[in-house]
Amino acid sequence: MILENSRPNLSVFFDTILCFPTFGQNYQSYILSTIIHKKIMEKILVIGCAGQIGSELTLELRRIYGASNVVATDIKPAEREITEGGPFEILDVLETHRLFGTVSRNKITQIYHLAAILSGNAEKKPLASWQINMESLMNVLELSRELSLHKVFWPSSIAVFGPTTPRQKTPQFTIMEPNTVYGISKLAGERWLEYYFKKYGVDGRSLRYPGLISYKTEAGGGTTDYAVEIYYEALRNGSYECFLSENTYLPMMFMEDAIKATIDIMETDAANVKVRSSYNVAGISFSPKEIAESIKSQVPGFEISYKPDFRQAIADSWPQSIDDSVAVADWGLTCTYDLPRMTEVMLQGVKEKFSAGRE
Ligand code: NAD
Repeated sequence: MILENSRPNLSVFFDTILCFPTFGQNYQSYILSTIIHKKIMEKILVIGCAGQIGSELTLELRRIYGASNVVATDIKPAEREITEGGPFEILDVLETHRLFGTVSRNKITQIYHLAAILSGNAEKKPLASWQINMESLMNVLELSRELSLHKVFWPSSIAVFGPTTPRQKTPQFTIMEPNTVYGISKLAGERWLEYYFKKYGVDGRSLRYPGLISYKTEAGGGTTDYAVEIYYEALRNGSYECFLSENTYLPMMFMEDAIKATIDIMETDAANVKVRSSYNVAGISFSPKEIAESIKSQVPGFEISYKPDFRQAIADSWPQSIDDSVAVADWGLTCTYDLPRMTEVMLQGVKEKFSAGRE
C-alpha cells in the first residue's frame, strides 16, 4: 500500500476529532469546515486510470479524498479494484462533449489528466500520437478555463529534452530541442500549460517524470520500460534481453515516490508553484548493467544480454541525470528510493503477483 502512514486517512481523523468532547464546538466546526473545504469539497477526475500511473494514483487519491470523490475514467476497462472501488466510466478524452458531461455531472473540481501515447509507441504512429497527446490536453485546459476548475495535473517527461541539452544533472531551465514526437508533444504541452496559467489563471501543475518503475501494472510503451520488464523476466526465466545497451544511463523513479511527488505538488499552495511549465524530478539514475547487478545480488544466476532497437536512439537523446533542486526549493520534493531498495520491493511485488496468478 502506497504511503500508508504518511497521509491522513479522513475517516480515522474525523472519528478521532469527534471523540474529544473537551474540544469546543467551535474548534470542531473550524477543523471540520477547513477539511471539508480542502478535501471533501474536491471532486477529482482521473483520465487514464487504467494505465501504469493511473492505476496506482487513483487508489491513493481515493484513500486521501474518499472513494466517492474520485471519478476514474479510461478509454478501456480498468482493474476491478478501480472499477468496483469507486465511480468509474469509460471515457475517450478526445470526445469533448462527453468529457464536459462527465465533469459537470460529477461536479468535478480537479483533473489528473494522464492519457497519452508514450515515447516508444508514439514513434510508430507520429501523427495519431500528436493528435491524442495535444488534443486531449487542449480539451482539458479549455474545459478547466470554461468551468473554472480548481486545479489540473498533467505530466510532462524528460523527453522534453533533446540531444543538444546538457545530459548530466540537466538543469530546470536549459536548451530544449526534443527530436521525438512524444518529446515535441510534451514540450508543446508545457508551453500551453504555462500560457493557460498566465492568460486565464488556470492552475495547472506538472512534473517532468523520468522513467517510472512499478510492478502493479505493465509499462505503457515507453523507452524506460526495460527497467520494469527486467524484474518480471528475472523471476520468470532467470534472464532478460535488453533493448538498450549496457551503459545507457537514464533517470528513473519508483512509483511510490512519483505518486507522492504528484500529490505533493497538487496539494501545495499555488504560490509555491513558481514554475508553471513543468518541474524537473530526478529520481535515481542507473544503466541496464547496474540494474542487472542489483538483481543478480538477489536472484543468483540471473543473466542479461543486449539487443538495442529503435529505442536506443531515443534514450541517447535524453538526459542521463536530472537536477531537481528547483522543485526541492519551491515545494519540498522528496524522493526516498535508491536502486537496492527498489530492486528488493520490485522483486517481492512481482513474486507475490506470480504466486497469486496475476501475471
Ligand atoms: P499508460 O500508457 O500506462 O496509461 C495511459 C492510459 O491512458 C491508458 O490506460 C490508456 O488506455 C489511456 N488512454 C489512452 N488514450 C485515451 C483516450 N483517448 N481517452 C482516455 N484514456 C486514454 O501511461 P502511463 O505510464 O500511466 O503515463 C501516464 C502519463 O505520464 C502520460 O502522460 C505519460 O506521458 C506520462 N509519463 C509517463 C512515464 C512513465 O514512465 N510511465 C514517464 C514520463 C511521463
